Parts: sequence; C-alpha cells; structure tokens
Amino acid sequence: MDLRPIGRCNLSCPFCFGPRHDVPTMPQAVAFRIAAKLRQEGVQGVVISGGEPTLLRYLALLVEELSSPLPGRFPPRVVLSTNGLASLKVMERVLPGLSWLALPLESADEKEHRELRTGSAAPHRKRVLDLLKEVRKNHRRVRVKLGTVITRRNVSGAPRVLDLIEEDSWLPDVWKVYQMSETNYGADNGDWLSVGDEEFEEVVEKCQQRAEERGVTLRVYRNSTRTGSYFFIDPDCEVVVVDEGGERRLGNFFSLLEDGAPRPADLVLPSRNMENFVRTYPDE
Ligand code: SF4
Repeated sequence: MDLRPIGRCNLSCPFCFGPRHDVPTMPQAVAFRIAAKLRQEGVQGVVISGGEPTLLRYLALLVEELSSPLPGRFPPRVVLSTNGLASLKVMERVLPGLSWLALPLESADEKEHRELRTGSAAPHRKRVLDLLKEVRKNHRRVRVKLGTVITRRNVSGAPRVLDLIEEDSWLPDVWKVYQMSETNYGADNGDWLSVGDEEFEEVVEKCQQRAEERGVTLRVYRNSTRTGSYFFIDPDCEVVVVDEGGERRLGNFFSLLEDGAPRPADLVLPSRNMENFVRTYPDE
C-alpha cells in the first residue's frame, strides 16, 4: 500500500502525480491508527510517500511503528519514497526502520533535470547523489531504488542517469523507469510533458542497455499496467485506486473497513498489486 500522509512538498515537479500540495496533512493519531490496521491486516509492504514525507514531524515515529516486530509474523516492509532533499540528520532517524529507500534522478543532463525537479534553490541532483553515497557506504542494510520519470523533456538524458554514479558500489539495487502519468499536476502539464507508448519504449530500450552494462536490475512502469496496481491512502484518509479512468476515490479508509466490504485486498487486482511491489522492492 502507498500511504500518502502529506501533500506538501519542497519541490514542485511539473509531472507530480501525488496529492495536491495544499491539502491538509494527516494528523499523527490518524496515521498511527492506519499503521495499526495495516499491521493487523497482514499488509506486507507499505510505501510512505506524499508530497514529501520527510516534512512530516512524526515520520520517524511512524516508520518505527510500522516496522516494529509482530508476534508470529513479519511486520510490513517499509519503503520511504523521498525527493532526497532532507538533511542527513533527519534521514538518520528514519533509516533504521526502512527496508528500502526510493530516490529520484531524472536526467544526466543538468538542464533537463532542473526543468523537471523545480521549486527548490538547493541543488537537488547533488543532494540525491550525496544521500545515495551515504546510504550505500554507511547503511548497507537499507536497499535503494532509483526512480526516473520519463517525460518528453528528458528522453535524451534519462537513459544516462546511471553515468552520474561513479562507483559501482554506490549503484542502486533497482532502477525503475516510469512512463509519466497524466494525474494531478501531471494532468495539468500533460500537453508539454507526456510521452507516447512508442517513444517511451525507445527510452526503455536504451535504459535496459545501460542497466545491463552497469549490472543494475531495471524495472519498468507502463501506464497500460497502472490499473489495479496501486492502493493509496491520501492525507484526508480517502482510499484511492487506479482504474481505466484514472484515479478513483473510494471513500474513507476506516468507513470502508467498518462497512464489512470491500476489504483492502479486494480493492486492487491482488496479483498485479503484489507483483508491482515485490518486483520493485524484492526481498533478500
Ligand atoms: S514528484 Fe515528489 S518531489 Fe516532486 S513535487 Fe511531487 S511529491 Fe514533490
């Protein structure tokens, strides 16, 4: 499941498909009630995203709560999907509870990258690379997924993203390339950013070649497989799934469960949802 407790972000990427940045943040008590329910229901993986989750005051406590041991079974694997701008001090409080860290890099070309990762004076690409190095050197237990969103503006620099990582020992465990989705801010900017299926496949081919050369596992997200793959819980506690028509809001998470049906696993295509998580964030 993708828990998106915050819409706020310190970037304003034009392809962003997260919740709108001005929606109120989920209160801590609600986030903890959700965490308890997910653990009780045996959810196997939780991706905390947003918005930018490192802006949450209670992030470290939430990660600890989700990942703490459960009697008789494994707790959910916790993934933090962050833009990488948080300080090392913030990250060090969170890293101990994580199975995976998901970081973004959009292009080997500085200009292309800056056009897509907008809204911060901080040098975003350098901050991501510094954090990646730190995690690879000093937090080997945490695995890393690098994500690259393919838009019309980075078709040239995206396949060369791994070239930014000099040392093989700093490379991510998984590199995932995403076809830009026309959802939320991505819908607002679809006219100048969207890539068609054919053009996307050409980029994927180049990424595959580069990934093989560097020995990194490549995963690909295509818009055609989005239906049934996701189960989001938004800052307002609404459950959001994706079907052919795009994102569909189903209602309040707790009300849906109280009504008896549908249960969380019935709200997605279970095999596609599971495959999406397990292939992106494989176990040992
Ligand atoms: S894509 Fe991520 S980093 Fe960019 S604005 Fe959206 S939530 Fe923030």
